[in-house]
Amino acid sequence: MRFSGLRVLKEGLTGNRGWTPHWRDPEPKADYDIIIIGGGGHGLSTAYYLAKEHGLTNVAVLEKGYLGGGNVGRNTTIVRANYFLDGNSQFYSHSLKLWEGLEEDLNYNVMHSQRGIINLFHSDGQRDAAARRGNMMLSQGDDAVLLGRDELRDMLLYLNYDNLRFPIYGGLYHPRGGTARHDAVAWGYARGADSRGVDLIQNCEVTGIDISDGRVTGVQTTRGAIRAKKVAMVVAGRSSQVAAMAGMHLPIESHVLQAFVTEGLKPCIDHVVTFGMGHFYISQSDKGGLVFGGDIDFYASYAARGNLPGVESVMEAGVALMPMIGKARVLRSWGGIMDMSPDGSPVIDKTHIDGLYLNCGWNYGGFKAVPGSGHVFAHLIATGQYHENATGFRLDRFRTGRGILDEEGKGSQHNLH
Ligand SMILES: Cc1cc2nc3c(=O)[nH]c(=O)nc-3n(C[C@H](O)[C@H](O)[C@H](O)COP(=O)(O)OP(=O)(O)OC[C@H]3O[C@@H](n4cnc5c(N)ncnc54)[C@H](O)[C@@H]3O)c2cc1C
Repeated sequence: MRFSGLRVLKEGLTGNRGWTPHWRDPEPKADYDIIIIGGGGHGLSTAYYLAKEHGLTNVAVLEKGYLGGGNVGRNTTIVRANYFLDGNSQFYSHSLKLWEGLEEDLNYNVMHSQRGIINLFHSDGQRDAAARRGNMMLSQGDDAVLLGRDELRDMLLYLNYDNLRFPIYGGLYHPRGGTARHDAVAWGYARGADSRGVDLIQNCEVTGIDISDGRVTGVQTTRGAIRAKKVAMVVAGRSSQVAAMAGMHLPIESHVLQAFVTEGLKPCIDHVVTFGMGHFYISQSDKGGLVFGGDIDFYASYAARGNLPGVESVMEAGVALMPMIGKARVLRSWGGIMDMSPDGSPVIDKTHIDGLYLNCGWNYGGFKAVPGSGHVFAHLIATGQYHENATGFRLDRFRTGRGILDEEGKGSQHNLH
């Protein structure tokens, strides 16, 4: 089924009776060439690119709940390529380019909106850091504009520029950044993978990974054993638990990140605005709700809901930055489980077990990476070679120090990436 304006018109006039389900609901087969554990954004995009780019369709995605029920449907939808460090900046640049062609590629409206992102700065030192980051983005072929306080005030009238602790000096503007509708991204990739023959199997939790003579041979699930030549673990906040099934101990901590949405309001916030010093960021959804969030909750947890101290710190930062927000009523809040890596960068790698692959460590920023991650991970699984835009995301860097030491320019400091 292809979507088009004409089709929408026809269905609208004929009672919407011609739409078909976006994907099949197959029973798991006894064996596959490739099993992907996790039907989130990264798992689904990996399956899609395996089928589309590499012609590999004897593939199953096993999801313990429903497709898109994890973080891919819980995030605050920011898409950007404003990373600083070598390795990360190429990768996110690659991902943003895929975003820009995604709707046509998937024939699916993911509501990608390049409304621009502005990262605020509050001191001369921060302005210098923003300029360096902007230069890195420009040299990568992406866009960046350094805005002074007056130019920024013309664009964002509603900010409190004279906050005593963090007066606003300006912002780094990334016009190609923006948002996309998160669950539509999961649905679009799911539909694209399914239509190429990938089996998407929901309510199928992986409970064990079968290994024989150093090679993966399949998985145990709540719907029986399934054999496979290759298995990819793509389970975000559950990465440590699933990798433990293969006897692996990952340097990943799972933490809760909360987000909030207000009642629908008339358009008032045109961009995505981030206030790093206060740990607060905000955008306005197409339905009018102000969507905002802040830092992770301050304890490790597998609960997909947060605690009140996290709520309080986000609300305080929001009111400090834009006092007008105090008048809006919060409708809902929720949480997701973040797979925090020690250096803030992901892992896209093979493991020491033949045929077993790992994709994790997306921290609080993996939504924007969904196209890029699936694309480069599919390349790795299909060819055995690292994609040129993802050579640095090796698991052994935490053991050897290679790639995260300061002299190599990466920096092990989490928020530098
Ligand atoms: C509140 C919040 C705000 C965020 N904001 C942003 C943002 O603005 N921009 C951005 O880029 N990123 C953001 N993120 C981060 C982003 O959402 C995640 O990094 C990304 O979605 C993680 O990858 P995923 O989509 O594959 O994860 P998930 O959607 O969590 O997919 C993993 C899947 O694996 C499944 N699974 C787990 N264990 C098993 C098992 N044993 N068997 C079978 N299936 C299993 C889970 O059910 C889940 O569906 C945010 C996250 C949250 C929670």
